[in-house]
Amino acid sequence: MKRLAILTSGGDAPGMNAAIRAITLRALQEDIEVIGVIGGYNGLLSQEYIQLTNATVDDIIGLGGTILKSARCRQMKEEHGPLLAAKALDAMDVDALIVIGGDGSFRGCSAILNHWQGNIIGVPGTIDNDINGTDQTIGFWTAVDTAVECIDKIRDTANAFERLFIVEVMGRDCGFIAVESAVASGAEHIICKEIISNESEFLENLVQGLNSAITAHRTTSYVIVVAENSLSKTAQELSHYLEQHTNTDCKVAILGYLQRGGSPVASDRVLATKLGVAAINTVLSRNSGVMVGTEHDQISYTPFSQTSYKNTSNQALIRRLNDLNFNLS
Ligand code: ADP
Repeated sequence: MKRLAILTSGGDAPGMNAAIRAITLRALQEDIEVIGVIGGYNGLLSQEYIQLTNATVDDIIGLGGTILKSARCRQMKEEHGPLLAAKALDAMDVDALIVIGGDGSFRGCSAILNHWQGNIIGVPGTIDNDINGTDQTIGFWTAVDTAVECIDKIRDTANAFERLFIVEVMGRDCGFIAVESAVASGAEHIICKEIISNESEFLENLVQGLNSAITAHRTTSYVIVVAENSLSKTAQELSHYLEQHTNTDCKVAILGYLQRGGSPVASDRVLATKLGVAAINTVLSRNSGVMVGTEHDQISYTPFSQTSYKNTSNQALIRRLNDLNFNLS
């Protein structure tokens, strides 16, 4: 093992830099040369990269975003994209590639492995926590912290006006940010795909629950945390619906991209460091085609083909809500 490339791909997440640092420092310990591809798979196809040294990764552990930039690359999904990526890796004379990203990026890794003999290891970096094979992804807890900070502020104004507030958080079809931020901010309700089997019944129950809480004056304000894409209604449409059915003023706050930014919290820096080191150890053991993760505090290895969250991890989320005895209506 002489030369290793790192790239960050898909949505950026706080803690990606901490992972780049850990991978680089651990590789340099083993006298492996490290290059950082700039701009995800686009940069790989155009062979745009920088040398990563002790000095390059000094002081980046607390930086949000990614010093290597990230991107979505359409060409990788086209027929010849993965073959061209494999040729680029050969031209760059690397023996191994470590990709920090989400399950889309790992599909890209699998596609390259159809044409390339080197080792490819994945490191889960996405705020959504929507990857199977790891209890947490790098960036998740920072995004939850940011959402909680916002919801706390929204609560102040919701209380002042005795209002209903809908706060939409990110999650890309996955309710983990909604669940943890709702729990941590004491929100009254959570809406996420995983807990809805029949949307109209779900909304009827929600209205019923809100009306009885309002009548009983249970709290001064009601905060509903909703994961994006949970319902066929937009947050604004849901707000109109709830105003009509509860006779209460309802406001909407969409947190959006601000959840991606910021300095990573300590748990994301630690996770990134742990997984970065594990990625190099995995490369050294000549393993390939897997994502390193952490399950029950142990390093785990999941083949790229099994990293997609869809329909596999939702039971974990429901168990979590049941453990907390959270109102599922
Ligand atoms: P994430 O990695 O955060 O899930 P995306 O789903 O946008 O983000 O994927 C990131 C990139 O991975 C895409 O822009 C594309 O270049 C590559 N990719 C995604 N799916 C595939 C696929 N099926 N085959 C090859 N490359 C893919």
